[in-house]
Amino acid sequence: MTARWPEFAPALDRATHHAREWLTSLADRPVHPRVDADALAPVLGGPLPEGPTAPEAVVDELAAGIEPGLMGMPSGRFFGWVIGGTLPAALAADWLTSAWDQNTAMRHATPGVVAVEEAAGAWALDLLGLPAGADVGFVTGATMANFTGLAAARQRVLTDAGWDVERDGLSGGPRVRVLVGEERHGTVDLALRYLGLGTPTAVSADGQGRLVVDSLARALAEGDGPTIVCLQAGNLHSGAFDPMADAIEVAHAHGAWVHVDGAFGLWAAASPRLRGLLAGHERADSWATDAHKTLNVPYDCGLAIVADPEPLRRTFGMHAEYFATFQGAGDPMERVPELSRRARGVPVWAALRSLGRSGVEDLVDGLASTARAIADGIAAIEGAEIVNDVVFTQVSVAFGSDERTREVTARLLADGVTWMSGSRWQGRDVLRVSVSNWSTDAEDVARSIDAVRRAAAG
Ligand SMILES: *Cc1c(COP(=O)(O)O)cnc(C)c1O
Repeated sequence: MTARWPEFAPALDRATHHAREWLTSLADRPVHPRVDADALAPVLGGPLPEGPTAPEAVVDELAAGIEPGLMGMPSGRFFGWVIGGTLPAALAADWLTSAWDQNTAMRHATPGVVAVEEAAGAWALDLLGLPAGADVGFVTGATMANFTGLAAARQRVLTDAGWDVERDGLSGGPRVRVLVGEERHGTVDLALRYLGLGTPTAVSADGQGRLVVDSLARALAEGDGPTIVCLQAGNLHSGAFDPMADAIEVAHAHGAWVHVDGAFGLWAAASPRLRGLLAGHERADSWATDAHKTLNVPYDCGLAIVADPEPLRRTFGMHAEYFATFQGAGDPMERVPELSRRARGVPVWAALRSLGRSGVEDLVDGLASTARAIADGIAAIEGAEIVNDVVFTQVSVAFGSDERTREVTARLLADGVTWMSGSRWQGRDVLRVSVSNWSTDAEDVARSIDAVRRAAAG
């Protein structure tokens, strides 16, 4: 039996209703959840019901049950971790993506989706200042984008060393050296672990968390063999960028592949005011970024970008006949680890289409200037110290001793007007602010700074 609209309509109508309630509630609800997962277990769990329930009743029960346990992550006053909100066009496109329910593995199977994703990929390359011929794969996030870029890197550096990793695996092959900055994101290590490359060698970083090029040059000179260098565009605590041009130059001089983890920072390239932070990044070999952070599409979406399609398609492709030439766009599945997947590029297309070039520029500039405003507001609070140079979207704050910083953070999170992460950076406890939501406005900023002031006074 073909699924019929009348069987969907009531549930989808209820879903629209609950989405409206949720999005409306963000203006006033406490940002933090009101209960923990254990408290919700009896409401949402227990024994599986014996029989069926009507779809619309399921939607109502789900929305009511989960509501106290939701964090106001799409709120303009949420500044935790690095978490974007959702642009209206991207959310609507994401709903449609589920309704269309396309398996996005193959070109001929879903030409519409492939055309949308290829357009979105080309727009992203343009905005990110990357080579137009690069391959773009839509993955779940920067973790998998790092994995994808580093998998292509592994393929290329081992091929150059005369080792066939597709046929022979890693056992018995040359050891691949991986050099990273001391303050790379933990998911780089995770991706390297998935790839069987072990723990990378850390190169020293400066007071803002930027990799030190002289240390990289020394580390490169100390060894040889197949080498991968992983740089960072956007440090979690400071927002700082590794010195791209110099690091890439020295890495390439040693024959290394350069991968850039730019989960949120790569989008600085879309702003003429900020793109200097990334200068030279386009000469790297692969790049990872998120769409669910700075670009504000719903979870989950990241972009894995590789300049030369060959090592990428050799790693993930299943079409032996392409191996000779790698001509043409190929199938989506040749650019990502998954075979079957959701049409993740569709919300990216909608976000970029709705913003246009100037809208993306304003979005990125707006996040950075809001971070500046928050830093200035917090700096004026007695006892508060901004511990990083605020160059992009991240602000780290200390309130005297570690103990006091932890106390202020705990009071702030309990207050519920805003949410910021407690963290530890360069040997100190900090309160970390990440400005990643398109909807944060001046009132959100003022209310959040007031909340920090109250927490610091308590
Ligand atoms: C968030 C982040 C990641 C991981 O991205 P996910 O989308 O969570 O997989 C990697 N690197 C940096 C710098 C990040 O900020």
